[in-house]
Amino acid sequence: MSRVYNFSAGPAVLPEVVLKEVAEEMMDYNGTGMSVMEMSHRSAAFQQIIDEAEQDLRDLMNIPDNYKVLFLQGGASQQFAMIPMNLMKNKVADYIVTGQWAKKAYQEAQKYGKANKIASSEDKTFSYIPDCSDLPVSPDADYVYICENNTIYGTKFKELPNTKGKLLVSDVSSCFLSEPVDVTKYGIIYGGVQKNIGPAGMVIVIIREDLITEDVLPGTPTMLTYKTHADAGSLYNTPNAYCIYVCGKVFKWLKAMGGLEEMKRRNEEKAKILYDFLDQSKLFKGTVVPKDRSLMNVPFVTGDKEMDAKFVKEAAAAGLVNLKGHRSVGGMRASIYNAMPREGVEALVAFMKKFEEENA
Ligand SMILES: *Cc1c(COP(=O)(O)O)cnc(C)c1O
Repeated sequence: MSRVYNFSAGPAVLPEVVLKEVAEEMMDYNGTGMSVMEMSHRSAAFQQIIDEAEQDLRDLMNIPDNYKVLFLQGGASQQFAMIPMNLMKNKVADYIVTGQWAKKAYQEAQKYGKANKIASSEDKTFSYIPDCSDLPVSPDADYVYICENNTIYGTKFKELPNTKGKLLVSDVSSCFLSEPVDVTKYGIIYGGVQKNIGPAGMVIVIIREDLITEDVLPGTPTMLTYKTHADAGSLYNTPNAYCIYVCGKVFKWLKAMGGLEEMKRRNEEKAKILYDFLDQSKLFKGTVVPKDRSLMNVPFVTGDKEMDAKFVKEAAAAGLVNLKGHRSVGGMRASIYNAMPREGVEALVAFMKKFEEENA
């Protein structure tokens, strides 16, 4: 067996201990004589898996009792519609557009009401987070929407926007469980799990209970109504059972590692190794305004397309894979999620140093 260091933005690296555990349990989960893949979602064994997953997530994030945790399908992108369908009572919402994912959410919301773009960083290829301390928040806005960590551009909100008392809705797909959060500051926190938690195919929605109502936009499908899933404990229909199981394992791994304070410490340490190198390199440079840099996604360029391609190719041959940047930024991007060990980042920096010397 030979494992690579996988810097993919998503689906992404998972903790090796978790992969080993699920492999061991593949033929016989906990004496049931079957894999979780083959198991009824109505069985006692599965009920225990989903209950423990929820409880472990609640422990990790310190989720208050007046928030529900939903395990849903359709990925993060389905939430772009589900949020306005369920929350746009006044048919007005304000969007802060800091990248492609926020832009897609903003465009989708326009189908359901008046979506206002109250701030954007598109003028500089989304390389920074705009000042959100005093934005023209609409008096009748149902919510203010952000994408907290911009996977493609490598920016992160270090401070939440001043929503002037309006509900905050946040897409945390690529920074989920990377550091502690104060859940009480949000109406909804949601994220696709395939970036920093588990396999693809699921979104976790953490939603304040009073936002779960039958008062949704006319025509909202049953499956896209939060209440449907909240009332059924995320088992209204067949959920992505295997994904819930793997995520549950990752939650236990995170708890064993010391929780989100410890993950934050590790993530800061890992990111510093890479950013410190970029800041002194003569060949590579980071593309993001330093104060807004993400701990999870680190885009960088040489400024020469052919050199970038050469780097990506040679890095892959050295076992450092999926470093090609998103087509809208070009260059490279290293995603260094929770499950990327420090050794992986050190190996990347050592390779970059060597490449720089060889190509000086
Ligand atoms: C990947 C990503 C999405 C889209 O996720 P899907 O699960 O593929 O729909 C949305 N938002 C952010 C921030 C992402 O990184």
